[in-house]
Amino acid sequence: MTNLENDLAKILITREQLQQRIAELGEAISRDYAGKDLLLVCILKGGILFLSDLMRAIRIPHAIDFMAISSYGGTRTESSGVVRILMDLNTNITNRNVLIVEDIVDTGRTLAYITEMLKTRDPASLKICTLLNKPSRREVHVPLDYVGFDIPNEFVVGYGLDYDEFYRNLPFIGVLKTELYAR
Ligand code: 5GP
Repeated sequence: MTNLENDLAKILITREQLQQRIAELGEAISRDYAGKDLLLVCILKGGILFLSDLMRAIRIPHAIDFMAISSYGGTRTESSGVVRILMDLNTNITNRNVLIVEDIVDTGRTLAYITEMLKTRDPASLKICTLLNKPSRREVHVPLDYVGFDIPNEFVVGYGLDYDEFYRNLPFIGVLKTELYAR
């Protein structure tokens, strides 16, 4: 066991479960967007591992772009939903079919903000693909078009998700020991 793994209370989603589900999502996206001009928009930093596996599971031509955000205030384990754009897209999304690739939807505030902002740029379509979803925590309704896993209300790390910038490199989703963080 590595030190990082010692910090976990449990593994919630294994590497194999992630890869299996991402293959299914890639199939569904390939079917739904066949013949369309698809642009995947990855929300940094949490979405990078998901994007890199998902795009390899998508069999149709597509482009990718990135947007980096940070949320103001909040705590180290909860977002405030007040979003600051640290890096905007390079691509003009007007008339493109945009699929947002996100790591996790919790209260929904971050994605509500991002989708409202992107809609003003008149994409042909705007949909959301999230690896993880915490339905019990939702405060703002955001329509989720593709969801990898619904998970309980636990703070998770790994596979792109961090706690204070660490644990992103774990190849699975785990729950951090509660004594390691204060909500
Ligand atoms: P929301 O605005 O939906 O409440 O929060 C979304 C953002 O909060 C995610 O993109 C992620 O950065 C962070 N977040 C929410 N829940 C978790 C979690 O369980 N683990 C980690 N590492 N980040 C989370």
